[in-house]
Order: sequence, then structure tokens, then C-alpha cells
Amino acid sequence: MAGLRKRFGATPALDGMSFTVRSGVVTGFVGPNGAGKSTTLRVVLGLDTPDAGWALVSGRAYRTLHRPLCHVGSLLDAGALEPGRSARNHLLWLARTQGIATRRVEEVLELVGLAAAARRKAGGYSLGMRQRLGIAAALLGDPPVLLLDEPFNGMDPDGIIWARSLLRSLAAEGRVVLVSSHLMGEVQEMADHVVVAGRGKVIADAPLEDLLARH
Ligand code: ADP
Ligand code: ADP
Repeated sequence: MAGLRKRFGATPALDGMSFTVRSGVVTGFVGPNGAGKSTTLRVVLGLDTPDAGWALVSGRAYRTLHRPLCHVGSLLDAGALEPGRSARNHLLWLARTQGIATRRVEEVLELVGLAAAARRKAGGYSLGMRQRLGIAAALLGDPPVLLLDEPFNGMDPDGIIWARSLLRSLAAEGRVVLVSSHLMGEVQEMADHVVVAGRGKVIADAPLEDLLARH
């Protein structure tokens, strides 16, 4: 995306946010709370319109999207969880709305380790299980671009280790994988490249090794 600007009232949430994410590597998007990470991802997903600037995905530039990009999967786009609905039914409903074969639901449940818990009501899920369900939802359409906003929030250490290795293998298959976090420590174990955001713009954009070597 290039030159994204957005204000909510007097607060600039995005103040010229610009960076490019490559495929085949995991890119960490790091910065303190309020740095503009979620707003950036929301603009790319078409859930927010910037006041200025452009998002560009797969060669198509836009400020406003009139329909969701079916080749971008995101936790932000996973659909509101109805507490009374089971994880499997939630995914089946999403698959139906996106025209995805129901067989794929069983595959993603397996992939995120929720197959055994798939019939339980999502309302009883821990935060870590909800994150897994969100990742499953993002992966339903087997998208070449994955944008994950704080996927490690509420995950236990085993879950974080599992998620890191899943995201690395998804990137190694040639996908674009962008993972936001307010903690550098969460991404430095898995990111090849890191974009650091602060106050709505990019402060650093470099391979992880270069960033670590500066400190
Ligand atoms: P981050 O994801 O890095 O925590 P956000 O993109 O959520 O940052 O927020 C950036 C700034 O924009 C913050 O000051 C936040 O409070 C503000 N903001 C984000 N979304 C809204 C909104 N819908 N209405 C008002 N202010 C918002
Ligand atoms: P994150 O830490 O991932 O940015 P937040 O809790 O900041 O999440 O924001 C969650 C949602 O609330 C987002 O959709 C964001 O746009 C919105 N939001 C954030 N800050 C504000 C705000 N000050 N006023 C209204 N909505 C906000």
C-alpha cells in the first residue's frame, strides 16, 4: 500500500503508511497499540476507506472495495462468531457464503487442530481456540494472501509455537503472509522481514537480521 492516510476525528490513525509485502516469506507488522496496524489491514481488506493513498493487491490498486477480495484471507474477515454455533457450523456457513466445498471445512479443522472440538459451541472456546478458528476461517478459500491481525493474542505457548510453524509453511508454499503484533518478540521467532509502524507510518522496513543487528 502507498501513502495511506486516515483520520478518525482529530486523531490521525494513518499518516502516510507505505510498504510492500513479498510472497514466500513471513512479514511481521510490529508497533505499539494505536500505531495503525489494524486500520492498515482493514484498508487492504476493503473494510475501511482511507482519506488518501492506495492499497494494491495482485496488481489491482484501490481505495474502496465494493466486494471482498476472495484471494485474501484474514482474521478480520472471519465473520462474527455466534456463541451458540459450533466451530464446524460456523465454517460450513462461511464456506457456503463463499461457494467453497464443504470438504474443505474438515481439512482446515484438521489443519488448525480443532477437529476433535469441532462440534462444541464456539461460545465455550478459549481465546486461543477462537484464534485457531479464525485462522481456519481465513484459510478456507486457500488464499494466496493472508493478513493476520494479532493472531497470537490469548494463545498459550504451545499454540504460539504451532501457529508460527503453520504460518512459516504457508509462506514457504509461496503465499504472502503478513502478521501483526504489538510485541517484537512474538514475530522475531518466525518473521523473515519486519515492518515497524509508529503513529500511522513506517519507522523501519528491513530483513529481521538487519533490524536485530542494529540493536
Ligand atoms: P493498532 O492496530 O496498531 O493498535 P489501530 O489501527 O487500531 O492501531 O488504531 C490506530 C488509531 O486509530 C488509534 O488511535 C485508534 O484508537 C484509532 N482508531 C482506529 N479505529 C478507529 C475507529 N473506528 N474510530 C475511531 N478511532 C479509531
Ligand atoms: P487492535 O489492537 O487490533 O487495533 P482495537 O481494540 O484497537 O484492536 O480495535 C478493535 C476495533 O475497534 C477495530 O475495528 C478498530 O477499528 C476499532 N477501534 C479502535 N479504536 C477505536 C476508537 N477509538 N473508537 C472507535 N473504534 C475504535
